[in-house]
Amino acid sequence: MASHYDVLIIGGGTAGIMTAAQLRRKRKDLRIAIIDPSKDHWYQPACTLVAGNAFSMKDTRRDEASAMPPGVGLIRQHASVFEPEANTVRTQEGRAYTYGHLVVAPGIQMNIDDLPGLREALATDKVCSNHIDPEKTRHVMTAFKGGVGEKKTPDAFVKACERFIYVENLDVQEAGAGAAASTSGKERGKRTDSTAKARPAKLSQNAELMRKLRKAFNIAKGEEEEASLSLIGQALRRLDPGFDPRSYGHASLSALVNALKDQLETRREEKGNTVMVRFRG
Ligand SMILES: Cc1cc2nc3c(=O)[nH]c(=O)nc-3n(C[C@H](O)[C@H](O)[C@H](O)COP(=O)(O)OP(=O)(O)OC[C@H]3O[C@@H](n4cnc5c(N)ncnc54)[C@H](O)[C@@H]3O)c2cc1C
Repeated sequence: MASHYDVLIIGGGTAGIMTAAQLRRKRKDLRIAIIDPSKDHWYQPACTLVAGNAFSMKDTRRDEASAMPPGVGLIRQHASVFEPEANTVRTQEGRAYTYGHLVVAPGIQMNIDDLPGLREALATDKVCSNHIDPEKTRHVMTAFKGGVGEKKTPDAFVKACERFIYVENLDVQEAGAGAAASTSGKERGKRTDSTAKARPAKLSQNAELMRKLRKAFNIAKGEEEEASLSLIGQALRRLDPGFDPRSYGHASLSALVNALKDQLETRREEKGNTVMVRFRG
């Protein structure tokens, strides 16, 4: 392995590899190397999908060497000493590398013990972190039937998204949707002595859901008495990018509306497939 590079990158994670690939795309003549001791490259963003049972953990791993952009060297060592005045990086393995430009992208270090009690809590089957063990997160979420817990994603973050999907909804099918429904939306996690008893008997008694539907309906109907289902869906997404029928136990908006027959009336237009919706009464 040569010991001088135009660009030397510490860390062959997503950041290091993307930087190398972009630079190579712009300048094929650049001599670039990545220093990383790991044999594995983990595509961490997909871990969210693992927790949602929509991706397998083993598929987030690749051989580090196979993730290298063409023409970029891989130095399998630990960077340990920076000597910026000499444009030099030294490695634990005792080698020195010089560079024109240095990119430092070694990721983050998880310091679990800095938060007292966290390690002990993670050892139980009730506490998990997707950043530590996405497969455990999936098991904990599947087993969660209500109790203490709170959704903490700030509203501003949800509203900034075009579409926001809660991880526990990724794998919800119509038949098995009860799990999500039983702990749906903001209801999930509210402290209750008996979650089952506190849960509304009927979906239409869910005040938060009905308020959202009413608001979206009013936007979608304009001056009319009824509104098309697709316009209601669009209005819902605009009002709340995190709105998801699966949070209420239904795979689609039409299934959700059908489950609200005591409050909503539907009719299919004679021509075409448009479903029109109106509030009863
Ligand atoms: C569950 C989960 C979901 C996430 N979802 C998203 C998402 O949706 N979108 C998003 O943008 N981000 C997401 N992230 C954040 C994600 O971690 C980063 O986007 C991305 O993987 C970070 O890449 P990185 O290259 O900075 O770090 P890493 O992927 O951690 O790579 C760092 C590399 O540096 C190497 N290294 C460390 N120390 C040294 C050293 N001394 N010498 C040489 N090499 C060293 C390591 O071996 C490693 O290969 C998620 C993270 C997790 C855990």
